[in-house]
Amino acid sequence: MALHVRGVVLPDDEVRDLWLVGDRVTFTPVPGAETVADRGFVLPGLVDAHCHPGIAPGAVPITSLDQARALATIDRDAGVLAIRDAGSPYPYPELEDEPDLPRLARAGRHIASPRRYLRGIALEVEAADVRATVTEQARAGNGWVKLVGDWLDRSTGDLAPSWDEATLTAAVEAAHAAGARAAVHTFSEAAVEIMVRAGVDSVEHGTGLRADLVEEMARRGTALVPTMINIETIFGGIAEQAREKFPGYAKHMLALRDNFPSVVGAAYEAGVPIYVGTDAGGGIDHGLAAREMLLLHERAGMSTVDVLAAASWRAREWLGFPGLVEDGLADLVVYDADPRADLRVVQAPRRIVLRGRVVR
Ligand SMILES: [Zn+2]
Repeated sequence: MALHVRGVVLPDDEVRDLWLVGDRVTFTPVPGAETVADRGFVLPGLVDAHCHPGIAPGAVPITSLDQARALATIDRDAGVLAIRDAGSPYPYPELEDEPDLPRLARAGRHIASPRRYLRGIALEVEAADVRATVTEQARAGNGWVKLVGDWLDRSTGDLAPSWDEATLTAAVEAAHAAGARAAVHTFSEAAVEIMVRAGVDSVEHGTGLRADLVEEMARRGTALVPTMINIETIFGGIAEQAREKFPGYAKHMLALRDNFPSVVGAAYEAGVPIYVGTDAGGGIDHGLAAREMLLLHERAGMSTVDVLAAASWRAREWLGFPGLVEDGLADLVVYDADPRADLRVVQAPRRIVLRGRVVR
């Protein structure tokens, strides 16, 4: 049955009537449609642009499709109706079309250097095998490849790029040649510099970004998904654990954490496209998109409307999930009050509609 929604539709900021027919939006009235919202503020469904339905709490790979379903459902119930899966140790392409689950833009498995990532999560490969692995993982995903660009190097006791510059650059080229976009995890200054200049499509975390590099990202249109919750939540624990064996690394991680809000603020000021990603899975709980949005506003100084764009219409456009336009996708969230005036409103969606069906 068709649904009818009326409210102030963002980003256009106009009172509109929408009809949802199957999985699509139309502005042409549909007689007999059921009205499921008649006031409030209507946004295209939220996007978590860095999320891991394939990683269970404790950074453990999931072992069944039902686990991925349960984790993605927690995000959905917070208004996240599309997820960019930033790497999964467990394949679940069949979940892309499930009516009750968020839409999925998926990378295959993380690709990391041997023994230089969370245990059991990544495909760990030597430099000589990176290119072929990227090509294969581009096929395993549906448009993205996830590279681990740096990690602790135990031989030097600090963060270091996963492979040499030529290999990292070849990894981006291989992703593009396979028709995929490349996302790269980076914490350090060195890795993010190499990857931005190599033409990577999105920088995940990006704690090591410096002023000249954010200008370069803005010029190239390279995206940043800062995952501020993650940096704030886990860097302290990583540093604490490493303090005795790798004191330089521990100190480095704390400095990166403490400087991060100003890094994200500088990227925002420079015009870098920023998207909301929680890094749910492993160390971060699912369902925290609203908290990440508040951090981007309160700590990095993004305007409320830019945070909303980063979590909704701009992110959907970036990932290829059309919003509330004629023949767009029937995914929306409705809030009682204007989230541009008070962003805390996003913590409590009154109505959630996914693929033309009422979730709440
Ligand atoms: Zn992640």
